[in-house]
Amino acid sequence: MTLILGLEGTAWNLSAALVSEEKTICEAESTYKPLHGGIHPREAAQHHASEIKNVVSRVFRGAEEGVFSLDSIDAIAFSQGPGMGPCLRTVATAARALAISLKIPLVGVNHCIAHIEIGRWQCGTKDPVVLYVSGANSQVLAYRAGRYRILGETLDIGIGNALDKFARYLGMSHPGGPKIEELASKGTEYVYMPYVIKGMDLSFSGLTTAAKDAINVHHHKTEDVCYSFQETAFAMLTEVTERAMAHLGKDEMLLAGGVGANRRLQQMLQTMCHDREAKFYVPENKYLKDNGTMIAYLGLLHFKTGDTTPIDKSAVKQNYRPDEVEVTWREQS
Ligand code: AMP
Ligand code: MG
Repeated sequence: MTLILGLEGTAWNLSAALVSEEKTICEAESTYKPLHGGIHPREAAQHHASEIKNVVSRVFRGAEEGVFSLDSIDAIAFSQGPGMGPCLRTVATAARALAISLKIPLVGVNHCIAHIEIGRWQCGTKDPVVLYVSGANSQVLAYRAGRYRILGETLDIGIGNALDKFARYLGMSHPGGPKIEELASKGTEYVYMPYVIKGMDLSFSGLTTAAKDAINVHHHKTEDVCYSFQETAFAMLTEVTERAMAHLGKDEMLLAGGVGANRRLQQMLQTMCHDREAKFYVPENKYLKDNGTMIAYLGLLHFKTGDTTPIDKSAVKQNYRPDEVEVTWREQS
């Protein structure tokens, strides 16, 4: 049995988990909650720095209770990127310190690919087109010839970020996505919103501006604007995902990332998949948002193919793209 400790802390959620090939053995987390406004990178990093000892200790408590032994941990995996620089550096420092003190290898992993692999693991889907939607990222990906290829992505901000910004404008606290979802469920009238797709890429920042204007200038009801925002943004995401599936001839689709918790988005994708006789997969919410288990699990896949990260190559990569990673654990196709 292989045991990997994974550390996640790219943005607001600090999380550690110990996994084996079969399951999560122990996990613990601590979430940074901004008092007002959005995520401030330095404050989030400060949160991670003060909480990391506690979070890792809670996982290590399993060793004191005889669930596992500390010397049976094979490697320390951590999110090398993409993410907020100060947050990434804080967690990477902790990962290096643990690897050195436990005298085990370090495995730097790509956060986006971790979202994909935890979904494949949890849902049992083999070769899906993936829609990865989080605060900072919005990408449509699929595996081909040793890499996860990005078929379409946002040209500006992530969909989560667009929702959070609008929610903040309405005076709601972070994260705004679930609050917008709640309001949208009460909307009835569609208000015009810009539907921006360029080739396979998407743009969301104009939507946030249009939504603000719809409230401020045109005095539409908040519920109707939230409803229209969601209908427009999610239709754009569904269209690009469908085009990727049609082009590649794939009949499985996996939803990943925090925005994936949205019921309306799930419903639109489900309908699209049903219409094309494809299977739609979505993991449970705790694996959609950022979590240590997904980092540990991808670390395990790397580790088992002999892929580890020497300390001098462990610098964080704020803009680490998934297609930079050579996928050594899947069959070539
Ligand atoms: P992540 O970056 O993957 O942790 O995802 C965080 C993002 O997911 C934030 O932008 C949240 O507002 C968003 N989010 C979480 N739950 C929902 C939801 N039910 N609907 C829309 N967005 C959501
Ligand atoms: Mg994420």
